[in-house]
Amino acid sequence: TMRKPLVAGNWKMNKNHVDAKNLLQALVDRSNEIPSGVDVMVAPPSLYLSEMAGSANDSVLVGSQDVSSQQNDGAFTGEFSAAMLASAGVKYAIIGHSERRQYHGETDDLIREKIAACVVAGISPVYCCGEVLEERVSGDHVEVVSGQVTTALTGFTADELSDLVVAYEPVWAIGTGKTATAAQAQEMHAEIRNVLGELFNADFGNSIRILYGGSAKPANAKELFSQPDVDGGLIGGASLRADDFLAVVAAAR
Ligand code: PEP
Repeated sequence: TMRKPLVAGNWKMNKNHVDAKNLLQALVDRSNEIPSGVDVMVAPPSLYLSEMAGSANDSVLVGSQDVSSQQNDGAFTGEFSAAMLASAGVKYAIIGHSERRQYHGETDDLIREKIAACVVAGISPVYCCGEVLEERVSGDHVEVVSGQVTTALTGFTADELSDLVVAYEPVWAIGTGKTATAAQAQEMHAEIRNVLGELFNADFGNSIRILYGGSAKPANAKELFSQPDVDGGLIGGASLRADDFLAVVAAAR
């Protein structure tokens, strides 16, 4: 396929300033370990974004863990816009992570506005979707995730979404040590690609990178990433140590 794998590290609310600088520096210093066919992004706490974007290199790009749905400057205390991210050298924004949905009430309608803000500012949106355990157990997971993707992406043109990345993150697998099997991941990724093809067109569906997220680590990354519709990963816990993260990155080649 033409899709270049992407491995993205979501640091969440971890690492003080010195530790964050040291981790990014380790990745930059060891960027020779990043296969040339693999894109790498790390998303540090937003406090450090502008500095980290300044010390990243072409092999290790910086992304945000979130962005405001508001596109223009204004009275939105605590928020930062996609335009601000772009002005600070940030390339990607993770949107609609399950922790944002769970703790901050984010819905796919709000998430659609955040994607729109990224599209306008030239930030590549990493749109997160995924079912909770009860939905998987009841067999509704495919319908749930298809619905999430459809709600979040309706109203755009394929051109506007050319830099979109989708991250399939089953909620029951995030931070739990339980990983989707390669077959479960492949089934859902193929379904998401199908939905993208139906919403826009087949070429679009085939061009969009779909990442797996949920307790991916060096021991399971190779099998997950070798599935035909799995184009890399969104990595939480295993992105917090350079050795682990680079091993996951190497598995994406
Ligand atoms: C995540 O939060 O995006 C994630 C995949 O976390 P973990 O790898 O720790 O399950």
